[in-house]
Amino acid sequence: MHNRYFFTFIATLAGATVLANVVMFYISDDANEVIAKFEQHWQQQADIILREAELLDELERQLSHSDTAHRVKDYRPAQLTLEADAQTTVAMQIVAMIASLDLSETERQALEQIKRYLEQISTNRTDPTVDAPLSHEYSEQLQLQQHQQLDSALQSLRSGMEARIQITRHQHQAALESVINKGSIEAWLLLSLVVILACAGAVVLRAQLRTIEERACLFDAIPDALLYCEYSGRITRVNQSCTELFGYADQELLQMTVEDLIPVRFRELHSKERRSFTGRAQMRRKGQNGLNIVGLHKSGEEIPLDIAIARTVLGQEPYFVAVIRDIRPELQLQQKAELDFLTQVYNRGQIEQILKDELSRAHRYQRPLSVMMVDIDKFKTLNDTLGHQVGDAALAELSAFLTGSIRPSDSLGRWGGDEFVLICPEIDAEKALQMAQRLVVTYREQNHYDLSLSIGVASRPQVGAQTDVEHLIGEADDALYQAKAAGRSRAVQFSGD
Ligand code: GH3
Ligand code: MG
Repeated sequence: MHNRYFFTFIATLAGATVLANVVMFYISDDANEVIAKFEQHWQQQADIILREAELLDELERQLSHSDTAHRVKDYRPAQLTLEADAQTTVAMQIVAMIASLDLSETERQALEQIKRYLEQISTNRTDPTVDAPLSHEYSEQLQLQQHQQLDSALQSLRSGMEARIQITRHQHQAALESVINKGSIEAWLLLSLVVILACAGAVVLRAQLRTIEERACLFDAIPDALLYCEYSGRITRVNQSCTELFGYADQELLQMTVEDLIPVRFRELHSKERRSFTGRAQMRRKGQNGLNIVGLHKSGEEIPLDIAIARTVLGQEPYFVAVIRDIRPELQLQQKAELDFLTQVYNRGQIEQILKDELSRAHRYQRPLSVMMVDIDKFKTLNDTLGHQVGDAALAELSAFLTGSIRPSDSLGRWGGDEFVLICPEIDAEKALQMAQRLVVTYREQNHYDLSLSIGVASRPQVGAQTDVEHLIGEADDALYQAKAAGRSRAVQFSGD
C-alpha cells in the first residue's frame, strides 16, 4: 500500500519535472529567437543609421563646398564654378545613396528637397569655362530662402535619423523586457521545481529513515538470533536475541569470531565448513552430516541450535548471515511428547514407534531382535501398604535401574502401570533370556522396596516380514503371564506351546 503511494508520488514528480523542463525549453527557445531577431534588427538599424550619418556628414560637407560659389556676390570666377559643379555632382550621388537606404516618408521628402536644391543651383550656374557675373535672378533673397529650405531638409534628415535611433532603442527596450520577463518566468519555474524537488527529497528521505528505523526495530525484535560475519569469521552485526542467546554484550560479540561461539571440539570443522559453504540460503539442522550444531554460552553451557545460513557477496568479499534458533524449548516439548512424565523413559506411544522402526530395520538387514515385557511382582501390595508416593518412587527406581543396565542401542519404555517394555536389537533368544535373568537377580538384590520382577521374553533370530509389533508384544506378554504363573521373580522365554 505504502509502495503504491510512493510510486504515484515519484511518477507525479517525474511528470511535473518533465513538464517544467518542456515549458522552460519552450521559453528558452522563444527567448533565444527574440534575442536573435533583436540582434539582427539592431545590426540592420545600426548599419543604416551609421551609413546615413556618414552620408549626411559627407553631404553637408559637399553642400558647403558647392555653396561657396553662391556666397560670392555678383561675381563668380570660372574656376570656382567648376569646383562647385563637381561638388554638386558628388552631393547628388550622396543624395542617391541616402535614398537607397530604408528611410521614412519625412526623410524621403527632405531628401527630395535637397535634390531639388542641388538641381536648382546647377541650372542657375553659368558657363563654367568663363568668369561671369551672377545671374540677376539668382538674388541674395532667393539664396537665403534656398539656404533655409536646405537647412530645414538637412535638419529633417537628422531628426529622422534620431527618431530611428529612438524607435530602435524603444524596440530593443521592449525586446529586452520580453526576454527579461521570459527569464523571470523561467527563474520562477526553476525555483518552484527546486522547491518541489527539495520537498520530494525530504519526503523520500523521511520515508527511507522510517524504513531504516523500522528495520532496525525489526532486527532487534526478531526472536531468532541474527548474526552477520565476514569471510574471516569476524562478527560484524548482531541483534538483541543474539546477545541474549550467547550471554555476551553486542560490543563484546563484535570483537569475536563465530568460532568463539562454538565448543572447542567443533571449531576447526566449523571453520572449514564455513569457508567451503557456497549456498545462497541453506538450512543446516542438528545432526546433518553427523555435525551437531551446538553453541557455546558465555557461561560455558552448550546450547543445541538450529541454524540457517545465507552467503552473499558485498564488494569483493563474501559474508554470511546466520539465523540461529535455540532449540532447547523445542527439544523439551519433544521430550514431553515422547517421555513418560514419572519415570523419564519413553512412553507407550514412543516405545511402540521405536519397536516398529527396529522391526523394519532388523527385517531389512535380516538381524535378530528381542523384546522383554518387565512387570513388578505384587506391586499393588506396596501401594496399599506404603502409599502411592512410595509406589511412584519404586517405579522411578526401577526405570533408573533398567536404564543403567541396558546398552545404548537398547530402548526402554513404560507400557503402563508397573509394566515396562525393553527392546534389544541384535540379541537372539538365548542371550535375551540370560540378560532377563540377570536383570531379575540384580534387581531383587538392589531395589530398596523388597520387590521382584517377572520378565517375559520374545525373540526372533531373523525378523521376518510377518512379524509386527502386536505379534511380538503379544508373545512377550504371554511369556510374562507364564512367569507369573510359575511363581514370579523369574524370566521366561516365549515358547509358543
Ligand atoms: P502382579 O503383577 O504380580 O500380578 O501383581 P500386581 O499387584 O503388580 O498387579 P498389577 O500389576 O495388576 O497391578 C498394578 C498396580 O500398579 C495397580 C496400580 O495400583 C499400580 N499402579 C499403576 N500405575 C501406578 C502409578 O503410576 N503409581 C503407583 N504408585 N502405582 C501405580
Ligand atoms: Mg505387577
